Amino acid sequence: MADPEALGFEHMGLDPRLLQAIADLGWSRPTLIQEKAIPLALEGKDLLARARTGSGKTAAYAIPALQLLLHRKATGPAVEQAVRGLVLVPTKELARQARSMIQQLAAYCARDIRVADVSAAEDSASQRAVLMEKPDMVVGTPSRVLNHLQQDSLVLRDSLELLVLDEADLLFSFGFEEELKSLLCHLPRIYQAFLMSATFNEDVQALKELVLHNPVTLKLQESQLPGPDQLRQFQVVCQTEEDKFLLLYALLKLSLVRGKSLLFVNTLDRSYRLRLFLEQFSIPTCVLNGELPLCSRASDPEAGVARGIDFHHVSAVLNFDLPPTPEAYIHRAGRTARANNPGMVLTFVLPTEQSHLHTIEELLRGENGAPVLLPYQFRMEEIEGFRYRCRDAMRSVTKQAIREARLKEIKEELLHSERLKTYFEDNPRDLQLLRHDLPLHPAVVKPHLGHVPDYLVPPALRGLVHPHKKRKKLASKKIKKAKTQNPLRSFRHRKERRRPTAVPS
Ligand code: AMP
Repeated sequence: MADPEALGFEHMGLDPRLLQAIADLGWSRPTLIQEKAIPLALEGKDLLARARTGSGKTAAYAIPALQLLLHRKATGPAVEQAVRGLVLVPTKELARQARSMIQQLAAYCARDIRVADVSAAEDSASQRAVLMEKPDMVVGTPSRVLNHLQQDSLVLRDSLELLVLDEADLLFSFGFEEELKSLLCHLPRIYQAFLMSATFNEDVQALKELVLHNPVTLKLQESQLPGPDQLRQFQVVCQTEEDKFLLLYALLKLSLVRGKSLLFVNTLDRSYRLRLFLEQFSIPTCVLNGELPLCSRASDPEAGVARGIDFHHVSAVLNFDLPPTPEAYIHRAGRTARANNPGMVLTFVLPTEQSHLHTIEELLRGENGAPVLLPYQFRMEEIEGFRYRCRDAMRSVTKQAIREARLKEIKEELLHSERLKTYFEDNPRDLQLLRHDLPLHPAVVKPHLGHVPDYLVPPALRGLVHPHKKRKKLASKKIKKAKTQNPLRSFRHRKERRRPTAVPS
């Protein structure tokens, strides 16, 4: 959390237009990373900053970048328009978010500073047209940016002054290494560079060698995740796979986990399994499927990474499957407790996985050595009554049902694809065939399972939870909405009390 004694935005020598935009965003004071990074960046230093998602890292580089660009335009004789800033991010979704953040900060100087996102959905011809106008800042994934550099639609050799590598640890892990190396050959010899990363691993070290010159390293005092007063982290041991499903069902159905929740699993099939399972109990869920990215950008590997998505007001992250690495844990947990909001992470662990979880914990342990993942106090025997229903639901979610659920989503995506619209206009028969293809029935939902009879509610919770009453109202409202809205798109905007989302990683 920010220190009230900290240097305020108004004492950083920022352009009044930036201060106005910051005020409009409602930011009363800089976050820790912003307080440290902005003054150093304005002095012209290269920075290597360990900054977790949610720490305010985007503005930590965007504010000084905009200040430097404004300063450049205000001084010197009629400066030639050129691309002076480049922000590289690992995914298209992050590119969209970064650009949107920069644009919000540049709201009062939009005429002077133009920002382009070359990873956006438009085809490369329209991107080339945007680049011909020489926007002041370009945001994109390494492959897209390299593409434009190779085609000369983007030329940076004489103009680039500032390079940002955001989520640098992911940049290498997504296989952009070769592209990054080729891309650097198109840059001038001297430029200022910021490298932001949630973790400092070997890949980040390698990147540091490649792009930074005498950087100031900002590890900051804060841990990689917010402290326990903001982010509560728990673990719960489940004896079997079935127990995991049983516990999840009970937690959601009894409203023991409240607010918008993100459920993480380790494969795409598992996310559909979970969705179909929860649907059996009328718990509305959507899957963030990397194969079906936002805006019908099918089969584009850069588009489909859920890790970078900025979900607003996620109150709980549930690791239904254990994260494969400590970094993955941090990235998942970073989806909640963003900015100064509270959050909760609950990790399900099987007995055979406990030593792996221990390794993750070791890394998270603070300097005082205090345990980070507290045991989640829950008596499994109290939900034994739910087991019969849980088994019944698990049986309905067959491999065939999962396959059909995936197919159904692909079909929906094709039917609503902007890109295919013209094709279908020219080939209406194909559209008809697709529409009247065999209807798919992923899994039969038995309505009675949506209801929790009072005798199933654990005695300690009777009178405290009224699951079925609340659920009934919510479910019918959501089903109505679900018919007209794509849950992937709406997840960002709606402030629902609960909408679990299953994310494979
Ligand atoms: P980031 O770490 O860049 O993904 O930012 C996480 C969230 O923090 C975003 O939704 C920002 O709008 C918000 N944020 C950034 N800086 C501040 C600040 N100084 N005060 C309050 N919220 C902020």
